Amino acid sequence: MINGELTIRRPLRWGMVGGGRTGQVGYKHRTGALRDGTYQLLAGAFDINAERGRDFGVSLGLVPERCYETYRDLIRAETERPDGVEIVSVATPNFTHYEITKALLDAGIHVICEKPLFFTSAECQEIEKLAEKKGLIVGVTYGFTGHPMVRQMANMVKKGELGEIRLVDMQYTHGFNAGDDVNASDAVKWRTNPLTAGPTFVLGDIGTHVYYLSEIVLPQLRIERLLCDRKAFIQSRSPLEDHATVLMHYHGGARGRIWVSSVNAGNMGSQRYRFIGSKASFEWSDSHPDQLIYEIQGEPTQILHHGMPYLEHESLAIDRMGALHTEGLGDSWANIYLWIAEAVDAKLRGDNEFLRGHHYPGIKAGAAGVRWLENCVRSADAGAAWVDFH
Ligand code: NAD
Repeated sequence: MINGELTIRRPLRWGMVGGGRTGQVGYKHRTGALRDGTYQLLAGAFDINAERGRDFGVSLGLVPERCYETYRDLIRAETERPDGVEIVSVATPNFTHYEITKALLDAGIHVICEKPLFFTSAECQEIEKLAEKKGLIVGVTYGFTGHPMVRQMANMVKKGELGEIRLVDMQYTHGFNAGDDVNASDAVKWRTNPLTAGPTFVLGDIGTHVYYLSEIVLPQLRIERLLCDRKAFIQSRSPLEDHATVLMHYHGGARGRIWVSSVNAGNMGSQRYRFIGSKASFEWSDSHPDQLIYEIQGEPTQILHHGMPYLEHESLAIDRMGALHTEGLGDSWANIYLWIAEAVDAKLRGDNEFLRGHHYPGIKAGAAGVRWLENCVRSADAGAAWVDFH
């Protein structure tokens, strides 16, 4: 169980780019990072509006001179300080991820970047090489995969409790974009423009989360080919999509489906997973992350509850609240941030053995998401055709 004891030698000197006062995801980063004493927020270029960004940084308790106008100013000034930040989170719109990550790595700073990581696999490969050359970590905030019950599923699958995996059915939908974008917020405007969002809207925005979670639970499944049907129900979002269905054939014969949508009117967000094997199935949803429905063919349905001693050691080890109390998204993010901090600390210590056995969402996970998106777009652009997975 995690109880806040420091698991690294000292707190990491941390900064943020983006995630300012009006940013949707910034607080999730801070609530994740600042939970266990592993990060100290010391600097930021929080906002595209420099004045608002400085004011916001000061309101978080930063000294004004470390609240910068741009990420370039941050890098310049922080690398000149003996106590400059050593890791920076990037919580900005998609089109900036690559250039900001590259600039940070060039300056010798570890990075935690939002998903979808970059626009292309070529960019991912270049950044992976750069990070390796510099000896730096790139973490990716797939924030739903720190839930103890996700670990529970992964470990039970590994032990063969579901039998041979046959079907994977996944969904991440909401209805917040069911209307048009005439009075849309900036966060919607950049998401629906290919120049700022990249080659996809909902596939990258929410589909990458689902895809990564399935990779955590079922690492043995590899996609052989897929078919993606995508559509913009609100025309102004075209050529991007606000709805998509992806069918996947895995090597070995298993079948999968991912449905993503932001026009599921009336729906406040449903992320649902059903993993079906030859003996049993799992059903898990992020709206009830503490519970896992486990159905063995021919037996009564079981609901496994987080923090209970019958769970796998790996699930209990990352539990924070104990079975009596609820765990939530903030706890999941705290786990993700903790794992990345432990990776950075090991890098700083030169402890490659620790790194080999340590799991956190890193550059390869970010790149896998981008590769999946590229395949989805290739299929959709070919008229929802089956394409071999590259
Ligand atoms: P947003 O539009 O709400 O916020 C973006 C923030 O970045 C704002 O504070 C803006 O002022 C700032 N910004 C923009 N350009 C900047 C620049 N060049 N320098 C400094 N600051 C800049 O967007 P959002 O919804 O917070 O999304 C940001 C990123 O996070 C996106 O990549 C998105 O896909 C991702 N995201 C991830 C999750 C998750 O669960 N991991 C959830 C939401 C968003």
